[in-house]
Amino acid sequence: MLKAGSTIGIIGGGQLGRMLACAAARLSYKTIILEPEADCPAAQATGRQIMAAYDDRAALQELAQACDVITYEFENVPVEAAQFLATQTIVSPPPMALEISQDRFSEKKFLNDSGIATAPWRAVDDVEDLVAALGALGGRGILKTRRFGYDGKGQVRLTSLDNQAAVEAIAAIKNAPAILEGFVDFTREVSVIAARDKAGNVRLYDIAENVHKNGILDTSTVPAAISSQTTAACLEATEKLLHALDYVGVLGFEFFVLADGSVVANEFAPRVHNSGHWTEAACAISQFEQHIRAIAGMPLGDPKRHSDCIMQNLIGDDVLQVPAILTESDAVLHLYGKAEARAARKMGHVTRIKSGK
Ligand code: AMP
Repeated sequence: MLKAGSTIGIIGGGQLGRMLACAAARLSYKTIILEPEADCPAAQATGRQIMAAYDDRAALQELAQACDVITYEFENVPVEAAQFLATQTIVSPPPMALEISQDRFSEKKFLNDSGIATAPWRAVDDVEDLVAALGALGGRGILKTRRFGYDGKGQVRLTSLDNQAAVEAIAAIKNAPAILEGFVDFTREVSVIAARDKAGNVRLYDIAENVHKNGILDTSTVPAAISSQTTAACLEATEKLLHALDYVGVLGFEFFVLADGSVVANEFAPRVHNSGHWTEAACAISQFEQHIRAIAGMPLGDPKRHSDCIMQNLIGDDVLQVPAILTESDAVLHLYGKAEARAARKMGHVTRIKSGK
């Protein structure tokens, strides 16, 4: 277990880094944030920021020398940077988890190879591939770039086997390597927040039901309105994934639930996750503390929830609701310290406790 006063490096300066830094401080650990942007959300909550690009070798060296363990708060950290750091110090979660989750092709393949069901999918590099893939997947699907797609970015929906539409779709993603995913007629989207420690112990939070607006998470409701069989299927897949990755830390895993209660995996994020923010209000041990515990070699905490709740993201102008939220009882507010409320920008979140269990 890391001694009190040890230092945890965090790559990325967003709100997830901020919340990790706060959790680390509560457990008596210092943090250093590697982030090129000044006055980022995480920098406001840490004692030190190294202001440099994520792939700046000298900065990475400096970070490695100053830290006892290094983690990350977003999945597009350059893999080479994480691999380099791993030659100098401990990096948790393992760089392999980053590498796999950064590319939808390797992610889907890894999930399927690990015995976890996903929507049917095909690799697509050009119009010819896309037309063939559409034919194989029933003429409908979502074209997704292999890399750098999130919150619905880099995606094109296709609803017919039309050649012109295929040409336009490939142009829309600027010929980037992609996959075509079969369209899933889901009834619900849910996610599991899970932790694994170095010894392979796993802790699973209750499943959240997620609603997206304009491709961005809007609300997470806990508990999800799903059967015990559906719950078991999600948890079983999550455990499989954690062990297959030899994972250390917290991970978020998203699923689609079908009308018959069966599930298919959508994607995982090798980090704390927006759909787990509710844990800071409705569990004794939040996902942020759980992550710090896992990477610091502390025993994992009990993930049980003491209350039902709804987490709502405050996006752009939603932040104007803050004065009203502050007058509510049972509303736990968390703001990210971002000066400007641009459209589609996550400014904070509020978790409303519905009832004690
Ligand atoms: P993603 O970035 O892959 O998580 O996709 C963003 C959102 O698009 C998801 O949360 C779903 O609401 C929707 N979506 C993604 N993939 C599919 C699919 N194969 N079928 C139906 N809807 C999807």
